[in-house]
Amino acid sequence: MLALVTGASRGIGRAIVLEFARNGFDVAINYNRSSESAQKICDEAVALGVKAGIFQADVGDSEQVKELFSKVKASLGAVNVLVNNAGITRDNLLMRMKPEDWNAVISTNLNAAFYCTQAALRDMAKAHYGRIVNIASVVGLVGNAGQANYSASKAGIIGFTKSAAREYSARGITVNAIAPGFIETDMTEILKPEMKDSILKSIPLGRIGKAEEVAKAVMFFAGEDSAYITGQVLAVDGGMTMC
Ligand code: NDP
Repeated sequence: MLALVTGASRGIGRAIVLEFARNGFDVAINYNRSSESAQKICDEAVALGVKAGIFQADVGDSEQVKELFSKVKASLGAVNVLVNNAGITRDNLLMRMKPEDWNAVISTNLNAAFYCTQAALRDMAKAHYGRIVNIASVVGLVGNAGQANYSASKAGIIGFTKSAAREYSARGITVNAIAPGFIETDMTEILKPEMKDSILKSIPLGRIGKAEEVAKAVMFFAGEDSAYITGQVLAVDGGMTMC
């Protein structure tokens, strides 16, 4: 089994790659800028006894995604599991948000999932098997002031997940999403301490989540135990969004 993880040079993507490797999956590690860190993760995966490779591509660019998939196929084979994880934030109040900040976030967080899923589906449909896991966010479910672009991209991912799940279930392909809450990575490291304190108060389990905890949920959707589950959104958020 080969899993391709986008945006896997740090944070949640890194944890997903290592979880896959521990479970015996070969891994294709996509990154955009952090080549050294991607190589380190690749070495860690290989040390766990699987095949792994690093693949540079800006997944918000459709041409680069085509090249990414052909390089992965030539080097490791067809992708059986795709995790659309790459993501960025460009936070600002709506009144001050520049079109380029809107477009950058939609391109990396949402367009990329479309490009990568389309590229992965060809081989998955032929094989009558595939697992696609999209990393959304709780803000795609409930919104967040200062993140109109980011929450629109994540709400978009959720709609995309459900439509793709309906289109490809007859081909043995499941498509699910995970909505992480507040997870300790570079993305949340930049938040001001008072902001972190106020988020902490909204988490019933009373702590920030770990990247590894998101990775375990991804592994569930990538494996056989979730064979009868598709089009679902699982919040990994310490209870933040329970209703
Ligand atoms: P990080 O900022 O720690 O890492 C982001 C990763 O995405 C990096 O590996 C980066 O690669 C990659 N990336 C960014 N832009 C591109 C691009 N254009 N093409 C390819 N790769 C790219 O983020 P997290 O690990 O925290 O987040 C991972 C996912 O989880 C994102 O989708 C995020 O929205 C989501 N999420 C995170 C939460 C959190 O609390 N941390 C909460 C909810 C959702 P490089 O360094 O090489 O540029």
